[in-house]
Amino acid sequence: MVVWMTIVFIESPMTRPVHAETAQPKRWAIVIHGGAGGDPSKWSDEKRNARLDGLEAALKIGRDLLAGGGSSLDAVEAVIRSLEDNASFNAGRGAVLTQAGNAELDASIMDGRNRACGAIAGVTTIKNPIATARLVMTDTKHVLLVGRGAEAFAASKNVPLVDPKYFLSRRRRTPQQPDPSEHPHLGTVGCAALDSEGNLAAGTSTGGTPKKLPGRVGDSPIVGAGTFADNASCAVSGTGVGEEYIRNAVAYDIAAQMLYAKRSLETAITEIMTERLQPGIGGLIGVSHDGQIVMQHNTPGMSCAAADSNGRFETHLALDNGGRPAVNAAKPIDAAKPINAARSTDADKEEIRRLIGQQADAWNAGDIDRFMDVYWHDEELTFCSAGSITRGWTATLERYKRRYPDKATMGNLSFSDLEFLRLGDDAFQVLGVWQLTRDATPIGGRFTLVLRRFDDTWRIVHDHTSVRDAP
Ligand code: ASP
Repeated sequence: MVVWMTIVFIESPMTRPVHAETAQPKRWAIVIHGGAGGDPSKWSDEKRNARLDGLEAALKIGRDLLAGGGSSLDAVEAVIRSLEDNASFNAGRGAVLTQAGNAELDASIMDGRNRACGAIAGVTTIKNPIATARLVMTDTKHVLLVGRGAEAFAASKNVPLVDPKYFLSRRRRTPQQPDPSEHPHLGTVGCAALDSEGNLAAGTSTGGTPKKLPGRVGDSPIVGAGTFADNASCAVSGTGVGEEYIRNAVAYDIAAQMLYAKRSLETAITEIMTERLQPGIGGLIGVSHDGQIVMQHNTPGMSCAAADSNGRFETHLALDNGGRPAVNAAKPIDAAKPINAARSTDADKEEIRRLIGQQADAWNAGDIDRFMDVYWHDEELTFCSAGSITRGWTATLERYKRRYPDKATMGNLSFSDLEFLRLGDDAFQVLGVWQLTRDATPIGGRFTLVLRRFDDTWRIVHDHTSVRDAP
């Protein structure tokens, strides 16, 4: 809570202790999906491992590029190329087939710096559609090329073309004998990335939905539906029933929620996955402009992977609760109700005192996770200090971790002078004083907390912190 203000304090050039901020490595983040179809718990070990290996190999490519200072666009293209070359995914080589028995591929890519974008659809001979989509973006004044025109353009750029049989070869199948594991085989691939220059990019590549009508185009090459990137908000890629993503302008809607409704990436994606799309439709991945990674699906599983400059590196075939924030489910009890005299104010005050004490103990033990536990685990949590607001539990936690990498930088924190005001059966305002001792000159100030009681415990839902003027 209170220590938040010290961040601002430390950052002021006038007051920054020499030891407090050595140059921080620049932040980058990357997230990948490999489709949200099928139920991974029913897959063979072979199929599970093939997916996980493919995700891991692709993630390493993206991670190494970004960690070496490479651009998000290069990372997105390289990651997707690797997945297109891997027949375990429904993109490039492993694309599903149309009713006519051939593969028709779609892809798009977008540059968050300037909303430049490029896409191709319905192509049958382009080995790596994502690379050609990028060339549409950089080398034409258009956004989307389809079919034969896209192929002629690819040929003019000397990109590798293949015999359409290339897309059949791995599975040795024919239109008459389709691969039985294919239906439903939604294994579209996508990637969203933030590079160390703060630039976002996203891309998506697919063979579409199995047994689609020839000529059908889904959301993957439609910018704003399956792919979107804008440095002001986020980079996202979707997978699932493309028609629904187009109808709901899903990828752009997420960016719009962030821009206009000031929602976090996680809240925006949760809204789409739970309120807007029917269960079983698909999944989404995204990275926000400040490096938050979100992966969610409303299907039994989604192949996905994420890495960032804090050392995160993970691959999944399915996420707990579909990746939605678990504690979101806890709804505050109505604070507007008249105060119930039977509720003991003393007992509630004691409990809140205990939680605040637990926070100081956690801080002084160098345990930021436990410190943050007392906050509302929700993206509506608000943190206000020095005139700016940080929204969301995840953003707050990650910011703390970046700013306070070890126990020494955290110092010793104490809280005192707590004053309680009951606002309702299930809400309290708490005023107090904080002090942080880390070197010879302690710093401190005041704080105001708003706490609400959830089913069985109290959580801080708002924290406003200030620094005492220097004596
Ligand atoms: N969204 C893709 C499409 O409709 C399919 C998928 O993601 O699996 O073409």
